[in-house]
Amino acid sequence: MDFDAIVVGSGISGGWAAKELCEQGFKTLVIERGQHVQHGADYQDFRNLWELDNRGRMPEDVLDEDYEIQRQCYAFNTANQHLFVKDSDHPYETPEGRPFNWLRGYHLGGRSLLWARHSYRWSEMDFEANLRDGHGIDWPIRYADIAPWYDYVERFAGISGSYEGLDHVPDGQFLPAMDLNCVESAVKEKIEEAYPGRKLLMGRIAHLTEPTEEQKELGRGQCQFRNLCYRGCSYGAYFSSLSATLPAAERTGNLTIVTDAIGHSVIYDPATGRASGVRVVDYNTKEGRTYTAKVVFLCASAIGSTHMMLNSISEQFPNGIANSSGALGRYLMDHVSGFGVSGTMPGFADKYYAGKRPGGIYVPRFRNLPGQTPETDFVRGYGFQGGGARADWRRGTYQAGVGAELKERLRTPGPWSFGFSIFGEMLPRAENRITLSRNTDKWGIPLPHIDCTLGDNDLKLAARALEDATEMLETAGVVQLRTRAEPAPPGHGIHEMGSARMGRNPRESVLNRWNQAHDVPNLFVTDGACMTSSACQNPSLTYMALTARAARHAGELMKEGIV
Ligand SMILES: Cc1cc2nc3c(=O)[nH]c(=O)nc-3n(C[C@H](O)[C@H](O)[C@H](O)COP(=O)(O)OP(=O)(O)OC[C@H]3O[C@@H](n4cnc5c(N)ncnc54)[C@H](O)[C@@H]3O)c2cc1C
Ligand code: SF4
Repeated sequence: MDFDAIVVGSGISGGWAAKELCEQGFKTLVIERGQHVQHGADYQDFRNLWELDNRGRMPEDVLDEDYEIQRQCYAFNTANQHLFVKDSDHPYETPEGRPFNWLRGYHLGGRSLLWARHSYRWSEMDFEANLRDGHGIDWPIRYADIAPWYDYVERFAGISGSYEGLDHVPDGQFLPAMDLNCVESAVKEKIEEAYPGRKLLMGRIAHLTEPTEEQKELGRGQCQFRNLCYRGCSYGAYFSSLSATLPAAERTGNLTIVTDAIGHSVIYDPATGRASGVRVVDYNTKEGRTYTAKVVFLCASAIGSTHMMLNSISEQFPNGIANSSGALGRYLMDHVSGFGVSGTMPGFADKYYAGKRPGGIYVPRFRNLPGQTPETDFVRGYGFQGGGARADWRRGTYQAGVGAELKERLRTPGPWSFGFSIFGEMLPRAENRITLSRNTDKWGIPLPHIDCTLGDNDLKLAARALEDATEMLETAGVVQLRTRAEPAPPGHGIHEMGSARMGRNPRESVLNRWNQAHDVPNLFVTDGACMTSSACQNPSLTYMALTARAARHAGELMKEGIV
């Protein structure tokens, strides 16, 4: 065997798998399809806006030609162009009229360098949801199974947040929360007074407000409130694979990383009934090679891992490895998102803030909670993200005026605004599916074909969420409301998940309660592909906890000689 363990992908899940496997003493290979990124040196966070190409704006012709999908991501600009894929190099297919916005980055660290860092626990309500209302299959785990792992990953990653005592978004191991600004505090007060049970809190985000000794030992520093996080953070003040998990793995001496190595498929050995390794295609030379190991962790992101599994064809698994259930590729989900409402907050003209706080507010789910009378026309719920801010000089870009008068006018901060973006739970449906196309990419690998739409419940939930968001803003005194009424196509929430779901029954699920393939016991899938339902909270913290838990379990099985 070349290695004890192979981890495919180096994003949020892959970083955690590598750390946990290396720390247990296993020689671990991380296979990353994208380029190497050097923490710090390859970020643009110490450049001024005027030092960036085109002041950070991408030229329209380049966007049209190479970034048709990625341009739709709010975080995309010239400072992080190298952290997003070129759509022209990495195509995928969708049916006519059914778009799926697959927003992604192929490089060391994956989307851990790009994420907005909102980190919320799921609760008992979320793990019981499928069983309770009959949509999807029952999760094979409950909150009690994952709670210690949330504790574990939160302590290491560093999540700043406030203690709220809410059962449906449980408190965790928090660093001090950031402060709400005056408008956010005012909106909070009005909403919590008008709607007993509804809460507005500062978002729980993976930023070091007060680094621990363990975090400092990894070279991570305190957040400087610069809000340049989408360029990468040289202080390592937000959690990423490059600031946290991969350095922790590296210091064990057990980590090997290969970049520019595209995971092609998992190799299945019929004699042992196990995975024996991974085939890769070199990004540059297009040559193939293989690596062998005792266990394989797929952490290539939900669609990436499922795509690779579908492409892992053998006599035993003609429709993709570990797919005896036929569930592989099905039940793809995202969050119902890309819509919301915002407006102007009158008053507060004498109030200012200093610094550029990253992150925003969170309104946890308040519909269809346990003990409430269920809503009549939809199941599950939604939460809101957003915040309040005061317009700065950049508002001048959209205003008429020239010369001294314009400059003078822009010297004073503009009006306050406040808004909500909606994130709703999407139900798992078999028809939302990834398959392999007959067409191939330039490395000869079949393209993923993604067929995914919002369903009836998702749309009903969206309509009610928008009504609630609008009414709550009006109640809080926000005026001149601007509404984005239609949810964006799936994928746009960048929380794609499902397609290799966990379950109790091997006949209807791909993975067991340890993220271990029912059919292939040394194959683990711990990214979003494993999710059995989507809840409405941002999911990455749950991927971290599930990955750490699965890696510990795999380690125990390896030590006992079972895999
Ligand atoms: C702008 C933005 C904001 C976001 N905000 C939040 C947020 O606030 N909270 C939250 O929870 N989530 C957020 N997300 C989503 C979050 O980034 C993902 O959920 C998370 O990164 C998923 O982790 P992952 O390890 O599964 O995948 P990724 O982080 O995408 O990593 C996958 C890695 O696998 C590699 N890979 C893919 N295919 C192969 C292959 N065949 N062979 C080898 N390597 C491969 C990729 O190059 C990549 O490095 C956001 C994402 C973006 C882009
Ligand atoms: S706001 Fe904090 S995490 Fe973001 S770039 Fe600045 S120091 Fe880094």
